[in-house]
Amino acid sequence: MTGIRVLLIEDNPGDTRLIREMLREADPTVQVAQVERLAQGLASLAEGATEVVLLDLSLPDSRGFGTFERTHASAPNVPIVVLSGLDDEETAVRAVQAGAQDYLVKGRVDGGLLVRAMRYAIERQGLQAAREQLERQRDEFFSSVSHDLRTPVASIKAAIGVVLNHEPPNMPSTLHRLLTNIDLAADELASLIEDLLQIARLQAGRVELWRSQVDLRDLVTRAAHSIEPLVEPRQQHVELNLPDRPVLASVDAERLGRVLRNLIGNAQKYGRDGGRIVVRLEALSAGEVCLAVSDDGPGIPEVEQERIFERFYRTSVPRADGPVGSGLGLPIARALVELHGGRLSVESAPGLGSTFRVHLPTA
Ligand code: ADP
Repeated sequence: MTGIRVLLIEDNPGDTRLIREMLREADPTVQVAQVERLAQGLASLAEGATEVVLLDLSLPDSRGFGTFERTHASAPNVPIVVLSGLDDEETAVRAVQAGAQDYLVKGRVDGGLLVRAMRYAIERQGLQAAREQLERQRDEFFSSVSHDLRTPVASIKAAIGVVLNHEPPNMPSTLHRLLTNIDLAADELASLIEDLLQIARLQAGRVELWRSQVDLRDLVTRAAHSIEPLVEPRQQHVELNLPDRPVLASVDAERLGRVLRNLIGNAQKYGRDGGRIVVRLEALSAGEVCLAVSDDGPGIPEVEQERIFERFYRTSVPRADGPVGSGLGLPIARALVELHGGRLSVESAPGLGSTFRVHLPTA
C-alpha cells in the first residue's frame, strides 16, 4: 500500500510536531504536507493531490465551524478528519453531522488511531462517491429510457385512436373490447412515463415553478371534480369543506393541482366502497394554509407511513380493483409541495382511514 497523502492544517507548532511524530511511528509511508492558515490549506487542496485532510478548527485566519465549512465547500470530495481540543468537541461533532468523516480529540489520540481514522475516512468517502455516481447514473438512465419510450407510446395511442374512430359497424364486440384495452393500457403507460420523467427532473432540481395568484378553493374544487366519474360506481361520497372567502396564494396552479388530484385520487382508489372522502381547505394564521384529504379506507400501517413517500413504494394493504399504481405519485407530490416551501404529511390509523395534509405558505 502506498503512503497516504495527508494535508495537515494546523497552526500550533507543538501539536504539529506531535502529530508528525505519531504518524511517522505508526506508518512511515504517510506523506504529510502542513500549512498553518486556512487560506494556504485551501490553495493546497486546489492542487488536487490531497487524499485526506487533518483539520484544526482554530486557525489564525478562521475559527470554529466555519473552518470546516469552507474547507469542505472548497473540496467536497476530499475526506476531512477534524482535530479538536477538549473545549470545541461539540463543534467537531457538528462538523461530522455536516459531512466531516470523523473527529479526534487532541491529546487523546495515538498514531495508530490517527492512521486508522484517516484510512477509514478515505474508504468511506470513496464508497460515498461511488454510491452518488450510481444514483446519478440510475437517474440518467430513468430519464433517457422514459424519454425514448414517449414517442412509440404516442404512436400506439394515435394508431389505436384512428382504428377506434373507423370501426366498421360489424366489428365483433370482443375485438372492440381488446382495442379499448390497448387504448387504456397505452394511457397508463404514457402516464407512468410522464411520472418517471417528472421524478427524474425533480431530483435533478430541474423543475421550476410558474407561480400566479390563485384562489385555492377553485383548485380544490377542480381537483375534486376530476374523480367524479370514479366515485359513482363505488358509491363513494366526496365532501368539500371550503371557507366562504377566497383563499389566495401564489402557487404553480398546474403543479399544485396535480398534487391535489393525486391525494384525492388515492383517497378514491384506496378508500372503501361506499366510503366518504373529505377535502378540507383551511386558512391558518400567519400566511399559511392547510389542505387536508381524508378517507375512511383501510389506512396505512404506522411503519409504512414514511415509506409511502419513497419512490416505487406501495403498501401491503390490499386495495380495490383498478390499475396498479406506480408508487411515484406521493414522492412527486411531496417534492412539488416542498418546492412551494410547504410540507406534505400523513396521519393514519389502520382500519380507520388516512388524512394527507399539505401545509403551504401563501406568500
Ligand atoms: P400509487 O398510488 O401509484 O401506488 P402513490 O405514491 O400515490 O403511488 O402511493 C404509494 C402507496 O401509498 C400506495 O400504493 C398505497 O399503498 C399507499 N396509499 C396512498 N394513499 C393511500 C390512502 N389514502 N389510503 C391507503 N393507502 C394509501
